[in-house]
Amino acid sequence: MADNKQWWKPEAAWPTPENKGKTVVLTGAKLIDGNGGPVIDNPVIVIKGERIVAVGAKGKVQVPPGAEILDVAGCTLIPGMMDCHIHTAMFNCMTFHNHRVAQWEVTPQLQQMYSLFHAQNCFDMGFTTLRDLGMNSSRGLFTQELCAVRDSINAGILEGPRMLIGGFTTITGSHLDLIQPRAMPRSGFNNGDGPYELRKLARTNLLWGCDVVKTCASGGGGTDKEEPDIVNMTQEELDAICDEAHAFHKAAAVHCFTTNAQRKAIKAGADTIEHMVYSDDETIGMIKEAGIPVTPTLAHRTDHAIQLRRELGTAEFVLSKLKKLQPHCYTTFQKMYKAGIKIAMGTDMGFEPQFGTNSWELEVYVGLGMTPMHAIQTATKNAAEAIGLGRDLGTIETGKYADIVAVNGDPLADIRVLQEKKCIHMVMKEGKVYADRRPGHSKNVVPVDGWKKIDYL
Ligand SMILES: [Zn+2]
Repeated sequence: MADNKQWWKPEAAWPTPENKGKTVVLTGAKLIDGNGGPVIDNPVIVIKGERIVAVGAKGKVQVPPGAEILDVAGCTLIPGMMDCHIHTAMFNCMTFHNHRVAQWEVTPQLQQMYSLFHAQNCFDMGFTTLRDLGMNSSRGLFTQELCAVRDSINAGILEGPRMLIGGFTTITGSHLDLIQPRAMPRSGFNNGDGPYELRKLARTNLLWGCDVVKTCASGGGGTDKEEPDIVNMTQEELDAICDEAHAFHKAAAVHCFTTNAQRKAIKAGADTIEHMVYSDDETIGMIKEAGIPVTPTLAHRTDHAIQLRRELGTAEFVLSKLKKLQPHCYTTFQKMYKAGIKIAMGTDMGFEPQFGTNSWELEVYVGLGMTPMHAIQTATKNAAEAIGLGRDLGTIETGKYADIVAVNGDPLADIRVLQEKKCIHMVMKEGKVYADRRPGHSKNVVPVDGWKKIDYL
């Protein structure tokens, strides 16, 4: 598993904030600590600076004298959630009506601002960590822009979630290349062909500061006319990319729609497999054996998502391709869940669904038979372990960062409460409260109704 890979240390990607040493005691109605065990009633969590120093039921944990008491009465406390597959720099569903128009009209500089805004929308809803798997544009890859968003948040000059950034490292005409219109000029080093060009592209992304090298071994769903089962990379090319990522102590995330791609990813030593589309029992067994986490990205496959794409101007042949993939995705999820593959929540949010509604993904999992507790773990413990942050994050335990979300409701009874902004009463990252919607409080990261839709056409 990613956690015991000594060469991979993404935690070094951001500086640890200074420990101010303030002690805060957080109390609530229930605690889901992320480990999957019984819910703890009347929990008390003692936080010093950024980290949790004690946690347990009331009466069993000593409250330090002089500590600040933060009571989120009636709420269920869960670990800060993570979306392991998102594209905050995608041109763009929240502010433009047509994503193709946005790709021509919006400068990279403006889109970078929207990336931050998109990330903040997720943060406001309890997503304290996002793994952004990159983007391209007519003026080059977006790796530097996304790294700058990450770094400005880490520096504390802007509020937002902790981010890991992926740099696109793919072949000419790959699925990820075709996120841009086919006729759009590609300026800059957007693609590579053959192991040595791809090594150089990976190294360039790493130079720019990516945490993850993102690549693509098969066709995809949401782009152009390419079939999802085409081959997007040779074994030699994929081996080279994963080798470069690992040489720099970083991870490799591989987009795989087919079993052919999944097998190549296993052979190349991929750290995560992205998407659940096609599968067979033998390859599922191989993924399980290799211990590679998989992100489902199923919200992206729903009828609602397809309808959103229609409204954003996506071509009909793409929409019908998405619809044809849908039953395969759902079946693969059920088979992989049953087989015990480690599932790390990822939405592929970008075009759709809208930023902040990431927990919709968990509703899809529960609808397909996953228990609500397991669904929560895909976005907490499993997610943290999948992206190499399991030592510091993913559960509410002594020693870990105090990334905690207070939910007014019981997500085990109704997973949909996680999608309701009015139910997300508090979002804490590293011991600091960023959103506070308890009765009598109204702190939000993104101002409520403080932004508007822009439309050039
Ligand atoms: Zn993606």
